[in-house]
Amino acid sequence: MTQPKIMTFKELNISEPIWKALVNKNYETPTPIQVQAIPVALNGRDLLGIAQTGTGKTAAFAIPVIQQLNQVRPKGEKRVIKALILTPTRELAIQIDECFRDYARYTDLRHTVIFGGVKQKTQVDEIRQGTDVLIATPGRLLDLIGQKHISLAHIRHFILDEADRMLDMGFIHDIKRLLPMLPKKKQTLFFSATMPLAIANLSDSILHKPVKIEVTPVSSAVDTIEQGLYFVEKPQKRDLLITILKKEQSKSVLVFSRTKHGADKIARVLNKTGIGCEAIHGNKTQGARQRALTNFKSGKTRVIIATDIAARGIDIANLEMVINYDLPEVAETYVHRIGRTGRAGKSGRALSFCSQEEHVMLKGIQKLTGKKLDVQS
Ligand code: AMP
Repeated sequence: MTQPKIMTFKELNISEPIWKALVNKNYETPTPIQVQAIPVALNGRDLLGIAQTGTGKTAAFAIPVIQQLNQVRPKGEKRVIKALILTPTRELAIQIDECFRDYARYTDLRHTVIFGGVKQKTQVDEIRQGTDVLIATPGRLLDLIGQKHISLAHIRHFILDEADRMLDMGFIHDIKRLLPMLPKKKQTLFFSATMPLAIANLSDSILHKPVKIEVTPVSSAVDTIEQGLYFVEKPQKRDLLITILKKEQSKSVLVFSRTKHGADKIARVLNKTGIGCEAIHGNKTQGARQRALTNFKSGKTRVIIATDIAARGIDIANLEMVINYDLPEVAETYVHRIGRTGRAGKSGRALSFCSQEEHVMLKGIQKLTGKKLDVQS
């Protein structure tokens, strides 16, 4: 694996309208997967990206797709679906659609998201009006193709997102039905957090001379970190966090939240109870994030709540404790998170909260690290 160097979006030859949109989002530097994937995808090559959620992989495929499509649409041409993004869940589909909304803001491209579990009418109406980019879950896509509302005949860019999760969720058969409906000549970007054999075979069969990109693969947890586990349901997590923070003497605590909204909520609750705390995530300005970090490093605030991506830039020498308020969806992220404490030979502690629906994630973590976390009471 080549070590990505720090680059700017300008150096990646991002076109002006997209670059402006990224500035609006407060993205300062591209993440490692973006540094590696964007130039490759802009060159029209196929890509095999081994990366998990939280690495910035959505922008890694959305930006080159937008840029390439924006260059080719002659004015007045009838809109046809030219890019298809296939993703396993409704939540991911919505998130990806929001990314397209944000990054394509200063282009005239249109994007539409479709997923099952809701009535199809609004989705069909939107597609009828013409769209350039379609973000879809497999079932609903097959349904609407079957009803002739969607044609994949003009697809130039096909993105398969979270392939391993597709497999886990039983979508492989749907994908195999969809593949022959796509034009032969197209760019395919294939993303998966892990590469079980079935996924490696699938990628082999659909990618043409792909460039392989892998970000931050890790497998072993740092031995000097004491790792504890609490089984706790979602509504009780707040109280547990407050109890732990009041009981523990740790001076600097980094709490991970899966979402930005969640991070803000936790910060509000802690501040109300008198525990000095700030949240950092992508919706905060660079100035606000910097201030929060300075306060944390100087000990002015004791607790910082961060999302995975916001925590990337945090380098705190004496971080005493990491708390996983939510378990990460991908096991490797757990190792990255807890590796924030126990640095440079110092001992550290990591506590994780696991609710009923997170048991599957816990299993993945214990399998990866080969270690059972110590259940706390
Ligand atoms: P993803 O891995 O695509 O789910 O992205 C995770 C989060 O990172 C999203 O909230 C993005 O808005 C954010 N993000 C993506 N790229 C960057 C970047 N270059 N700088 C800061 N945040 C980013």
